[in-house]
Amino acid sequence: TSVIPIGGADMPVVISLLNSYSGIAAAAAGFIILNNVLIVAGSLVGASGIILTQIMCKAMNRSLANVLFSGFGSGAGSSKKSAGYKGEAKAISAEDTYLMLEAARSVVIVPGYGMAVAQAQHAVRELGELLQANGCEVRYAIHPVAGRMPGHMNVLLAEANVPYEQLAEPQDVNPVMGTVDVAMVIGANDVVNPAAREDKSSPIYGMPVINVDQAKTVIILKRSMASGFAGIDNPLFFKDNARMLFGDAKATVSALVSEFKSG
Ligand code: NDP
Repeated sequence: TSVIPIGGADMPVVISLLNSYSGIAAAAAGFIILNNVLIVAGSLVGASGIILTQIMCKAMNRSLANVLFSGFGSGAGSSKKSAGYKGEAKAISAEDTYLMLEAARSVVIVPGYGMAVAQAQHAVRELGELLQANGCEVRYAIHPVAGRMPGHMNVLLAEANVPYEQLAEPQDVNPVMGTVDVAMVIGANDVVNPAAREDKSSPIYGMPVINVDQAKTVIILKRSMASGFAGIDNPLFFKDNARMLFGDAKATVSALVSEFKSG
């Protein structure tokens, strides 16, 4: 019954917690049947699950009690989803995005669930290399809950051979975001939602996000204006310095790579 009120973005925390319970149960069974392997393995699963649960709670700036009992992302939360952010989202073409990237001295790439869906990580790494060869500083900012499982983005970028030194955490890039020429959001949504800072009525208010809206220009690569996992609107899309590069992330990033190669 403890999972009934859990909704939206809290599910991973609960899954991790239940996973840790399974370890604790295994360890307890180990004591009963006097099986050392079961005790040790159960304790490891139990302890690591609890540590992971804590890391994820911290990433969302919420206590475990708050996650379990507030029904975040469901019911009350969802009813506030259309905060009715006003303004016009401005689309940009791959050619114009290329011109901006070509002139940029520093770029921060923020990958999210959409990059995983599109399997765009190899194209992203290629774009990062072309930017670097062009004299631009490139960093990848990874939010702890980006994607759909812990470490999701790290695994994908490692698979694509993105150099480890280029990975950064939100607390590394946020303080210097004002000096970044272009922030590229590749299939991320909730983890870059400025409502978490600006809108007290938002269900994600208080969650640490990557402040891409503070970069000089932010380009958002996604297929539509649709919301992300938490199902809430994102005022980022309507900011003056934001441009939407619509399309499947693999197609749009590959188009940028071709522009660089021919340009
Ligand atoms: P989000 O789910 O917020 O947003 C992903 C975006 O990707 C969507 O808005 C979608 O927009 C876009 N997208 C989907 N497919 C493609 C595609 N082929 N090409 C381009 N864009 C695409 O992702 P984030 O990574 O920002 O945030 C993760 C969310 O998942 C958080 O709310 C987190 O709490 C939750 N979560 C995290 C877990 C974890 O352990 N990391 C586990 C479970 C949930 P469009 O449809 O317009 O293309």
